[in-house]
Parts: sequence; C-alpha cells; structure tokens
Amino acid sequence: PSITRGVTKELSIVTWDDIGGLKDLKRKLQQAVEWPIKHANSFARLGISPIRGVLLHGPPGCSKTTLAKAAAHAAQASFFSLSGAELYSKYVGEGEALLRRTFQKARLAAPSVLFFDEADAIAPKRHGGNSSGNVTVGERLLSTLLTEMDGLELATGIIVLAATNRPHAIDAALLRPGRFDLVLYVPPPDAEGRREILRIHTRKMKLGTDVDLDLMAERTDLFTGADLQGLCREAGMAALREDIAADAVYDRHFQIARASLRPSLTRSMVE
Ligand code: ATP
Repeated sequence: PSITRGVTKELSIVTWDDIGGLKDLKRKLQQAVEWPIKHANSFARLGISPIRGVLLHGPPGCSKTTLAKAAAHAAQASFFSLSGAELYSKYVGEGEALLRRTFQKARLAAPSVLFFDEADAIAPKRHGGNSSGNVTVGERLLSTLLTEMDGLELATGIIVLAATNRPHAIDAALLRPGRFDLVLYVPPPDAEGRREILRIHTRKMKLGTDVDLDLMAERTDLFTGADLQGLCREAGMAALREDIAADAVYDRHFQIARASLRPSLTRSMVE
C-alpha cells in the first residue's frame, strides 16, 4: 500500500473469511457497502438511495478496521483510511485540508470506501457555545466532515465508514439522516467466535495433533480478536524458543502462551 501523509490508499486484500464470528454484522455490511457499489443499477431501478455512512462502535481489537477493509475488498473498492487522532494533532487548518483532499481522492478513485478510525477525535461532541468565541480544532474538523458528507449526494460509489470505541463522545450531528444512517455495534467474540478466530490465525501454522482449539476458545474468555492473534503468535514463539528447529506447535506451547497473556477486555466491557 502507498502511504501519503496520513492517508492510506490500498486495494484491500482482507476478505470476509479472514474475520471470525460476526456473521450477522458481515451480512449487514455486505448490504450497506457491497450492494450499492456492485448493484448500483438495481438501486437506481428501484429508486433507492444508498446510505452514505456507517458507524462501527465497540471495544478495541475486535475487528472494526478489518471489517471496513473486508467490505472494501468485497466491493472491489479503493480503500482510504484516516485516523481521527492524527487529523486532530495537525497544525491549524492542516487537518481540514487533509480531510478535504482525501474526499477528493476518494471521489476520483470511486468506487471507494473511506475509513475514519478514532472518529470521536474528528467529530467530538460540541459543548454549545464556548465562552471564548474561538472555534476549536474539533469543531472545524467536524464541520468540514459534515460538509463533505453532505456533498456526497451527487457522488456515487463512495461510502464512509467510521469507527470508535467511544460512541457517546461523538457529536450527534453526525448521526442525522443522510450522514451515518447505520450504527453497528461490533461485539467482542463469544466462544464460537473465538474458535473461528483461532482457526483463522492458525491457518498457516503447522499444528501438532494434540492442539485443541475448541478448548483454547473456552479458556480465552475476554480475549479480543487481536489478543487471540497474539496468542497464536506467542505459541509459535514458545515452540521456537524450545527448539529453533521445531517441526510443529504443540498444545504445551499454547498453554505457555495462554499463561503469559492477559485479556484486554474486562467484564464490564462485554455486558
Ligand atoms: P481498534 O479499535 O484498536 O482500532 P479494531 O476494532 O479496529 O481495533 P482491528 O484493527 O480490526 O480491530 O483488529 C486488530 C487485529 O485483530 C487484526 O489484525 C485482526 O487480524 C485481529 N482480529 C480482530 N478481530 C478478529 C476477528 N473477528 N477475526 C479475525 N481476526 C481478528
């Protein structure tokens, strides 16, 4: 992927099959992102205007970014990503300029998926009339984003996805009709989801016959997808530490890895 000043444009190579669990969510994203791009004629025939924005929220490490990439790939759309925190940290005016430029690039490269990570930094809640009368960086970024999104009416083949771990910190203006019309919660994986995630991240590993991924899924309550990916890598490293010429990764290596790792989630985050 080519990276230019905070914008990443790539033809994403993540597929739906690289994401474990979340069946329902994948189906909703297929309909919201893939269909309007792949079946634009059907939408036109029935006079349906596709949604412009999808907001994904949920705890970190549970595949919000990966879902956005998979949706772009499935739609054969270009993928542009911007980090809210990065935009926020730029010099006065630079963040807005980058935001506008990215929308412009996405229009030229359409069909495109534009992904905003840490969206709460781009569109923080406005606290009605600040006393100094100064417009804050967040307010300027937000109004630029709203202008650009409202302008998408004329453009076709551009869908904006945004992700946040803090949906309550997002300005309500973003959720008005015509903007982020679809709000989807991306939950942490349950035992079945964890089983699928473990399968995915061991697909390319040489596993000993004693490895029981089902049992490992049961024993990784509160692990995120990212945690599980780390667990698989760590099991592989344990095998190599034991013997750099190891032929496979065995159950004992997964046990060692499990004992050395703590889950990222807490009970209060999943209930
Ligand atoms: P953040 O909020 O921290 O940006 P995120 O929700 O966007 O996190 P991702 O960046 O998509 O999460 O996921 C982090 C890593 O965890 C990815 O490399 C991905 O491979 C892995 N992962 C997370 N969830 C899953 C899943 N359901 N299936 C397979 N891999 C997953």
